[in-house]
Amino acid sequence: MSVTSVSVIGASGRMGSEVCRAVEGADGLELVGRFDVDDDLGDLAGADVVVEFSVPDASPANVAHCVEQGVHVVVGTTGWSADRLDALRGQLADHPGVGVLIAPNFAIGAVLMMAFAAKAAEFYESAEVIELHHPDKVDAPSGTAARTAELIGAAREAAGLTDVPDATTSDPDGARGARAHGIPVHSVRLRGLVAHQEVLFGQTGEMLTIRHDSFDRVSFMPGVVAAVRRVGEHPGLTVGLEHYLGI
Ligand code: NAD
Repeated sequence: MSVTSVSVIGASGRMGSEVCRAVEGADGLELVGRFDVDDDLGDLAGADVVVEFSVPDASPANVAHCVEQGVHVVVGTTGWSADRLDALRGQLADHPGVGVLIAPNFAIGAVLMMAFAAKAAEFYESAEVIELHHPDKVDAPSGTAARTAELIGAAREAAGLTDVPDATTSDPDGARGARAHGIPVHSVRLRGLVAHQEVLFGQTGEMLTIRHDSFDRVSFMPGVVAAVRRVGEHPGLTVGLEHYLGI
């Protein structure tokens, strides 16, 4: 069996250290480098694939460095705005063999939750997202919530539901929280939580709740390992693990 060598950026962090353990325990993968803030990325320890879980402000430069080195990248860091994605696509055009996957959530159940939410969005007048995380999470709303809202908005548009959900009329000043792609998103930060999300759909006389809970960061590892194994087969930029899993 051929061995894929893997380096991790953000290796001392909560996710990065879990990824190091998962790579060390996975058949056919070898951990060759651990990088964190202030480390010189250099040749990335000769890795075939880099896994990047750092901070939103550092991630674009880290990923750009990997692409420049011709190394495939699996990215879990949040904060990838449309502008940042466009810049990365531009860079990848000059490196046609390199694959980059950016996924807001590597838990398979969360990927399914987003797909189910996109399906349900075609059938309901109102939709809201509640995301709940540990209090040390630096960003809000979460990348998963933003992506869920984006998928709901796109599904509504494709179904011809161009009117905005009810919350826009019941909350014209946005006082009930942030909104992503027109969908209200509520962020809870509570000690004891890891990563949780509820997607609520309502219409007269009924409500549908789709919920996913990550109780432990190990929940993200099967998705990360699957992505490491497949990223080389997907040149260019892919956003969302669902594209690798056929979901
Ligand atoms: P963390 O704060 O525990 O870890 C971040 C690590 O990045 C730290 O060790 C820090 O020193 C390091 N770092 C900071 N600047 C750096 C730089 N310039 N270069 C390299 N490393 C640098 O955070 P975390 O909980 O591990 O989360 C990391 C990111 O992953 C966040 O954006 C978080 O939202 C995201 N996340 C994504 C998923 C997913 O499934 N996609 C799941 C959980 C968290």
